[in-house]
Amino acid sequence: MTTDHEPDRSPESGGETGKPAPRRKTIDSPYIHRLQRRHFLLFDVLPIFGMVGAVAFLFVRPFGIVEFALLFGMWVVTGLGVTAGYHRLFTHRTFKAAPWVASVLAVMGSMAGQGAVVSWVALHRRHHEYSDRPGDPHSPNLSGAGWSGRLRGLMHSHFLWMRRHEYPNVVHYAPDLIKDRRLVRVARLYYWWVGLGLLIPTVLGGLLTMSWTGAVAGLLWGGFARMFLLEHTVWAINSFLHMFGTRAYESRENSHNGGIFALLTFGESWHNNHHAFPTSPSFGLHWYRLDPGYWLIKTLALLGLAWDLELPSDERMAAKRLSGKSTVGGNAAAA
Ligand SMILES: [Zn+2]
Ligand SMILES: [Zn+2]
Repeated sequence: MTTDHEPDRSPESGGETGKPAPRRKTIDSPYIHRLQRRHFLLFDVLPIFGMVGAVAFLFVRPFGIVEFALLFGMWVVTGLGVTAGYHRLFTHRTFKAAPWVASVLAVMGSMAGQGAVVSWVALHRRHHEYSDRPGDPHSPNLSGAGWSGRLRGLMHSHFLWMRRHEYPNVVHYAPDLIKDRRLVRVARLYYWWVGLGLLIPTVLGGLLTMSWTGAVAGLLWGGFARMFLLEHTVWAINSFLHMFGTRAYESRENSHNGGIFALLTFGESWHNNHHAFPTSPSFGLHWYRLDPGYWLIKTLALLGLAWDLELPSDERMAAKRLSGKSTVGGNAAAA
């Protein structure tokens, strides 16, 4: 069964004639909702318990250099996979990369446990298409007015939307990805990659300490706690930065920048910059704005492994620049 959210009127879908049936933009089936619920419980709810378990495990084994290295290392690998791979390469095609580099980035992003690459891309392209309007999978601004509406919106956009949501039709939203056989193969193995992301810190924790408690600490800190921390920073972009922060550039939705979180979010917190210039591989847009995702892409470019990085011109940026007034917590979409 499909929802008639907004039929695609493009010529290849049959257009207005209905022959063949217009391609749907979203798919709504009990089977897909079952998969969503399973994914939500396994990879969104379970890491919360994993984080609590990691803290409780401090009574057994204190947080040492091995725990820190596994947490930090896996957090960087998966965080860069999401921002440079899932987001900047596959969703927005802000640069081109050697096929094996693209595959490695897809695997790194998959280990984050935020969905298989094709679904993630389709959802995020839909977010850009409908940002803060009905159809946006995770807007915090559509749950009513007043403080209770805002709170409901934040809870929805940060976490609750993932329980059950319209599934964007990948034929419509990610036709380029489903034609890429190598990438589809990576996407099909998604659950295995998440498992690998848990196995690596477990094995390393065991080997580095030559102990079973080290292996458990590796699983808890480098696996579940890392997943928990990265998820909440990525989700905070969807939720808080569509409500609070500063706005540097004109854009039709309510996106904001949160510059102080730039390092922590691998540059993703320049979210208003990103909505204003979605095809830019740099989200900071200027060298002095911290953007680790872009640093990785630049490094790949220097090594000849990435190319076609196109930043918006000074004129384009100047044309969209707001007067410098920041809006904290306001509805800047109307400003
Ligand atoms: Zn985006
Ligand atoms: Zn956004």
